Amino acid sequence: AAADDAEPIWKTHYNHPCPWDQTFPPLSLPDMFFASVARKHSAPLLDFMERKYSYDQVAHGVARVAKGLQALGIGKGDRVGLFLPNVPHYVAAYYGAMAAGATVVNFSPLYTVDELAHQVEDSGTTILFTLSATALLPTALKVLDKSTLQRLVVGSVAGGLPPLKSLLFRLFKSKETTPLPNDPRITRFSKLIANDGQYAPVQIDAERDIALFQYTGGTTGTPKGAMLSHQNLSANARQVNAIDPRNDSEHDRILGVLPFFHVFANTCVLNRTVLNGGEIVMLPRFEAEAALKAITRTRVTALPGVPTMYQALLDNPEIANTNFASLRACISGGAPLAAEVKARFEDATGANVVEGYGLTESSGVVSTNPYEGLNKPGTIGQPLPGTLVRLVDKEDPTRDVAPGEPGEIIFSGPQVMRGYWNRPDADADVFIGNFLRTGDVGQIDEQGYIRIVDRIKDMIAVGGFKVFPSQIEEVLYRHPAVKEALVIGVPDTYRGESPKAFVALQDDAEIDGPGLMAWLNPQLGKHERVIAVDIREALPKTLIGKLDRKALRKAEGIAA
Ligand code: AMP
Repeated sequence: AAADDAEPIWKTHYNHPCPWDQTFPPLSLPDMFFASVARKHSAPLLDFMERKYSYDQVAHGVARVAKGLQALGIGKGDRVGLFLPNVPHYVAAYYGAMAAGATVVNFSPLYTVDELAHQVEDSGTTILFTLSATALLPTALKVLDKSTLQRLVVGSVAGGLPPLKSLLFRLFKSKETTPLPNDPRITRFSKLIANDGQYAPVQIDAERDIALFQYTGGTTGTPKGAMLSHQNLSANARQVNAIDPRNDSEHDRILGVLPFFHVFANTCVLNRTVLNGGEIVMLPRFEAEAALKAITRTRVTALPGVPTMYQALLDNPEIANTNFASLRACISGGAPLAAEVKARFEDATGANVVEGYGLTESSGVVSTNPYEGLNKPGTIGQPLPGTLVRLVDKEDPTRDVAPGEPGEIIFSGPQVMRGYWNRPDADADVFIGNFLRTGDVGQIDEQGYIRIVDRIKDMIAVGGFKVFPSQIEEVLYRHPAVKEALVIGVPDTYRGESPKAFVALQDDAEIDGPGLMAWLNPQLGKHERVIAVDIREALPKTLIGKLDRKALRKAEGIAA
């Protein structure tokens, strides 16, 4: 009980330039959007394929999407899906659907037909936006025929998307251009918005009305739809803004390469920039060379990214020709950032890299390092204002652990989702009053900074013992030949499960699996020792660039 009463150390050592208990009044996303339009008018909001789109121009698109959707009978309670890469249509459809009163559902552009159909039906999406001349269109057309989806809205980019080289990007390119069938269920985006934009205003209850169904990333378990209210999302954008000490962020130009369908980009790139009145330099897909050229060309000031992205930028030769003078801050999140990558990127650019942490169910962000003052490598910093973080016993989550001890991170704040769509069973697992369980194990140090120790959902049960894969991966990363490492549990008749390592090597590395295992195992505890080290060309990654443990398990024939 003593632990419950003590003031947590992150409160007494708060390093963000705002009170930790700051509050955020209810605000809907359309109100947030149109407030910035009223201030910024002809200032640029989007830079896409070297063309600028002003706040007024985007607002025009938003209003016309809203009217076009209302004309199709879409309003409150309806779900509008976005199956799009980062293109201007995404922004118009996102705020336009919300202005019409509907709920947006984000779909990963990497979905297969079955995955897309499943999420369409689970969410009750009736109308889906997609893009012609990409591999998205044939997928969407098949889903239109085999699911409850009622309508497709198909946009196009004049002249096609830019010719990027990366493997991931090719997924967006159709081998042959699928012609648009003549089908009354298919509407062209240009036709949808051929109206005067005089849509019927809708009353939005920011706290209750759901702006977005955001499906959980899917690196563990079956995806579930996290219901994020307007207030969840607008508050998280304001929380992220409140910790920025700079007061001229309306002049920010943010590199928008993180995919918008992911909650990190929705909050830290799209909503935050719209709130500020800044500009987004939008790239339809991440490719290191194109991203570096865009930084020089547009004088980018902020670069939100995931660790694999910073690593890829560092590894690209174009970095020698890149002008980083305008860059002031990089926000890394989504997965742990190796201290070495952080240091190298700061050296190369002269800008701070601040690491943050969050999850789908937190509308994006729970905690970050401060921009100024102590910025601690290997930690996820301190809670955002308005966010309470506690560490609890994972067997008895009603009990706080003693200060300094590791425990499961639970948190409350205006960004905590309303719940999972149609999954009261899953709600019961994650909510403790108004606190949300994260499944992540953290530890708070004597300076009030949180360190992620591991994910409960990734734990390997070896005999009766619990082994955290990240502890084994951390040792592997110390070997100079190791580029990427993932450890998973594989069935073992004797121990139940055993850890097995999968490694991608640096280009010039000359070590084999048994050699690496002979180096690794003597450094590990008895239960942590791996039964094999498997060397691979590359390890699976999610579209946002996280190493994908779930895909690896699946490929190895191990149930999630
Ligand atoms: P998702 O909901 O797919 O965005 O995944 C959220 C999960 O990513 C969290 O529960 C963490 O396990 C992990 N995560 C996010 N940010 C970090 C970070 N900075 N360090 C370590 N793990 C992170």
